[in-house]
Amino acid sequence: MIIVLLWGMLFPLTDWYARLFSPQIIKKGSAEGTKICLTFDDGPDPRYTPEVLKILHKYQITAVFFLIGAKAERFPELVRKIKAEGHQIGCHTYYHRHAYLLSPWKSIATILKGRQTIERIIGKPIEWFRPPWGALNLFQYLFLRQSGLKILLWSANGRDWNKKTGVRGIIKRLSQKLKSNTIIVLHDSGGESGAPDNTVTALPVIISKFQSEGYSFVTMKQVLGGKD
Ligand SMILES: [Zn+2]
Repeated sequence: MIIVLLWGMLFPLTDWYARLFSPQIIKKGSAEGTKICLTFDDGPDPRYTPEVLKILHKYQITAVFFLIGAKAERFPELVRKIKAEGHQIGCHTYYHRHAYLLSPWKSIATILKGRQTIERIIGKPIEWFRPPWGALNLFQYLFLRQSGLKILLWSANGRDWNKKTGVRGIIKRLSQKLKSNTIIVLHDSGGESGAPDNTVTALPVIISKFQSEGYSFVTMKQVLGGKD
């Protein structure tokens, strides 16, 4: 019983510790400045990723795509397209399972395999990792620390994986959270069936609305305070 209890506490405690003490895991919005960064999780997706890329190209914006290894393996040409169009690519594990439900070995294998798959396709090392649902377990946290992959979460969540959020809901949620240094998370794949349709419809509105409010979309490193 005690072991189960300790095991159950270990994971939320790891998350809590990681969020508080891990460098760069998340950047809180700040009152000064006008920089924001767009990130997309759960792709690549043959239906939605090209649509997102088209919109980003139209507005001349670069974003970050946290890819799922298994999908990258199925659609390598999309991964190369994302890279060729100047966007950054990070790893979002291989299978997209929740960290609390994985054995120690599988926790690490899903990161390792996801990273290797993506790196093999783009022919370059990747630097960034985003855990599914933003949850890490202790094994992953320790592994990530020594593997050199940097963890990035988000500071504004469009909840676009939920179809019920709707186009207006996504725009409203992000508008409420908007500050400088905001890292926005949206999804170009996954979630409820058809949910990315809302994302693709909301995206041009979000970009033009935020630009007209004086914000500029920059790279993750610019938001985090480093050079690109
Ligand atoms: Zn995800």
